Amino acid sequence: MAFSTINPYTGETVKQFNDATDSEISAAISRADQTFAEWRQLAIAQRTVILQKAADILREKTQFFAEIITLEMGKIIGEARAEVELSASIFEYYVKNAEQLLKDQPLPVADPAEGQAVLVHEPLGVLLAVEPWNFPFYQIARILAPQLAAGNTLLLKHASNVPQCAEAFEKLMLDAGLPAGGFTNLFLPHSKIEYVLKDPRVHGVALTGSEAAGASVAQTAAKYLKKSTLELGGADAFVVLADAELDKTVEWAVFGRHWNAGQVCVSSKRMIIHEKIYDAFLEKYTAGVAALKAGDPMDNTTRLAPLSSQRAADNLKQQIAKAVEHGAIATEVGDKVPAQGAFVQPTILTNVTPDNPAYYEEFFGPVSMIIKARDDEDAVRIANDSHFGLGGSVFTADPQYGYQLAKKITTGMVYINHPTMVKADLPFGGVKRSGYGRELLGLGLKEFVNHKLIDIVDIDAPF
Ligand code: NAP
Repeated sequence: MAFSTINPYTGETVKQFNDATDSEISAAISRADQTFAEWRQLAIAQRTVILQKAADILREKTQFFAEIITLEMGKIIGEARAEVELSASIFEYYVKNAEQLLKDQPLPVADPAEGQAVLVHEPLGVLLAVEPWNFPFYQIARILAPQLAAGNTLLLKHASNVPQCAEAFEKLMLDAGLPAGGFTNLFLPHSKIEYVLKDPRVHGVALTGSEAAGASVAQTAAKYLKKSTLELGGADAFVVLADAELDKTVEWAVFGRHWNAGQVCVSSKRMIIHEKIYDAFLEKYTAGVAALKAGDPMDNTTRLAPLSSQRAADNLKQQIAKAVEHGAIATEVGDKVPAQGAFVQPTILTNVTPDNPAYYEEFFGPVSMIIKARDDEDAVRIANDSHFGLGGSVFTADPQYGYQLAKKITTGMVYINHPTMVKADLPFGGVKRSGYGRELLGLGLKEFVNHKLIDIVDIDAPF
């Protein structure tokens, strides 16, 4: 029974769930396909009424949903509430914009005598979403809201440590009036992904998670010629130029690295600091991290949560030890974290050189890598010296100069004077080993639609 709720703060196994059987999976695919046949025929406004209702329920029951998130993966309750609110805002984004985004698009033709060419955006059918635990509601909303708006239906394989989040989201959608089969949670073990993707009624897969999961699922999708999008890991650079306003920058650095206990694909994982301010930054940053109070994530005053599981905590500690074996200096910061629960002591890594494997790794927890840059160009070079290409940020007193520098950074997203902005009206996604495709906005919505050309040609037009 892989799917289990294990409270990361207490270690208690709260509830276990059985894997879906083959007949349950087949029935879910059939139902999703039947529902698709009707769902796609509805006017967009009829579909978005249900999205609005889902947003309303998320807002009415924010605390209820937030507590399930915190129980299962351990994030601080205030962050869980913010995640529920963000999910509601994603639904509303598509309520407001789906009609416009899906509008037929006339194409300019060189000679009007040739006829009239139009692109129409049609849904593909049943899709599979494979999602991670770190934002168990937001990750669903990010794929579900646009794809339902577009007219597709969805099957969910959520991470095995957030089964109650998966069930709660499924119930939320039914309560909002979505017909059964519009969104179906399946407790799907890895071994059953192929069973789903080989079914001709399933037309694509969106995965958010690790490189290993992405490579495996994309390979299976390719075998059956199904479209895939991958939102994978990151080792985002947090570049601080010599002119940056230091106190505020340090505040954002502490936040950027430690929200969600550092378990964010777009956490500020590599601080790249201009040598002129390196010592001052390190001193203030260390003090800022030391002030984070670790404790019960259900307590509103806690500032550092446990990791999502004891296994995640053990893996991170091993990763730190390996970095040190290869020459890094690890400085543990702040009061001792509680002995109970999946905590990891906040750790600052310095002296991490490119010959240390850690230099290129993603640390998924409260571990900060601090690297000194000789000058601005050196900072960009270090930022780009990564297998990942997800997000990143540049802190400077001159935003226009920061903008020019951002153009040289090879990632999907760069923020000036902010660690990251995760919002309903900004796109999300990366390049290199951070994956391919985009989520949110029209970009995300159009990943799984057929951009069909209809060309009305005068019968007398030449070929
Ligand atoms: P993970 O192990 O890859 O899990 C993510 C999802 O993939 C889960 O549903 C998991 O199921 C499934 N999965 C794992 N291995 C699989 C396989 N071989 N075949 C099929 N499915 C598989 O990811 P994680 O380590 O828990 O999560 C953190 C990673 O996700 C980090 O690298 C983080 O940066 C990345 N992430 C990226 C984004 C983004 O938008 N770019 C957002 C959040 C997280 P089980 O739970 O059953 O194993």
